[in-house]
Amino acid sequence: MRKYVIMGVQGSGKGTQAKMLRQDLDLAHISVGDIFRWHVRQHTKIGAQVKRAMAAGELVGDDLVEEVVRRRLGIHDWNYGFIIDGFPRNGRQAEFFMESYDIDAVIHLELPDDEVRRRVLSRRLCPSCGMDYNLIADRPEVEGRCDICGHGLITRADDTPEALEARLTDYHAKTRPVLELFRRKEVVHDVDGRPPVDEVQSAIRKTLGLSGYRADD
Ligand SMILES: [Zn+2]
Repeated sequence: MRKYVIMGVQGSGKGTQAKMLRQDLDLAHISVGDIFRWHVRQHTKIGAQVKRAMAAGELVGDDLVEEVVRRRLGIHDWNYGFIIDGFPRNGRQAEFFMESYDIDAVIHLELPDDEVRRRVLSRRLCPSCGMDYNLIADRPEVEGRCDICGHGLITRADDTPEALEARLTDYHAKTRPVLELFRRKEVVHDVDGRPPVDEVQSAIRKTLGLSGYRADD
């Protein structure tokens, strides 16, 4: 059984990398963001709490994150292990998580803030069909138009430089103590998040001692 944590700033591609690992190794991919989005869509009690926090411009509280993760892991559908994304959020949670679940490795995707700004601020979204674009890697064929439905593309409301700076500051402040704790336990694998997706995946597998990545799997 393999138990991994994946950490990385927004735009580092951690969701994509986690999914690639999951497919091949039969891991459960536990994404706190995905779980919260599900609750919001299903109008659950947790969904209402998430919406309230977002409407107030706050992050979802650490305690709620912890509860959601505890419940998700309690389902025990992870016979081959899991890869978790968005947790732990503070030193206390990290300590508890290490001890309770005996984590094998923490994959830390490193991306300089300048590259995060470049990636995040070039994102565009089709408000009609939900397709994502990126003016660097994933340009629409016609500038400013959705390839699928032809609707005009927009920038997400929270992808402004000011909002991004606030998220970056918050990320570094919250992540530092968690990473420090994991480093003391010698489970952190730093991986350069700048190369293309396949190369990053290969680097992750190499450092974890897994077999190589084949794009046609
Ligand atoms: Zn569209």
